[in-house]
Amino acid sequence: DRARIKDNIAKGVLDKMGGINEQTFIAVKPDGVQRGLIGPIISRFENRGFKLVAIKMVVASKEHLEKHYSDLSDKPFFGGLVSYMASGAICAMVWEGRDVVKTGRAILGATKPSESSPGTIRGDYCIDVGRNVCHGSDAVESAQKEIALWFDKSEITSWKSAQQSWIYE
Ligand code: ADP
Repeated sequence: DRARIKDNIAKGVLDKMGGINEQTFIAVKPDGVQRGLIGPIISRFENRGFKLVAIKMVVASKEHLEKHYSDLSDKPFFGGLVSYMASGAICAMVWEGRDVVKTGRAILGATKPSESSPGTIRGDYCIDVGRNVCHGSDAVESAQKEIALWFDKSEITSWKSAQQSWIYE
């Protein structure tokens, strides 16, 4: 049964990959929210042609953030990371579109702002790796896990953009 569930998840990931319904989890971190960067961050995804299908403001608990960052639990900065992320409101979003996971990471820029190119969010708006203003899923599979962690299915809105045929061939 477990193998069947795993197969179904893998199939779901494959179904989404490359399609125009691929989804990613993007969050404006507490520093980004406090610095008034929700609008500029949303604009970059919107202007690129991606579709916003879920958005909410959340103050996340440490338990929730420990789950979100479970892969990093052995890193020396883990405690500080969780405290930073729990220190204020986060703007949590789901964006949809072809290759949105990969392109979303490019829009965000490298994890370390000193290595992120100007023109990316991190390359334009921050200096320290521990205050890098935004989060974006790093793979289609982690995007699906993160979306399920942060959103209830009922919070994700399915809508057809009038721009669709002007954005996709
Ligand atoms: P990303 O957010 O780009 O996927 P990681 O998953 O490696 O990067 O790290 C998660 C977050 O942890 C980063 O966005 C950053 O806020 C923080 N972080 C990563 N490396 C460090 C570090 N060396 N010192 C402090 N914080 C860090």
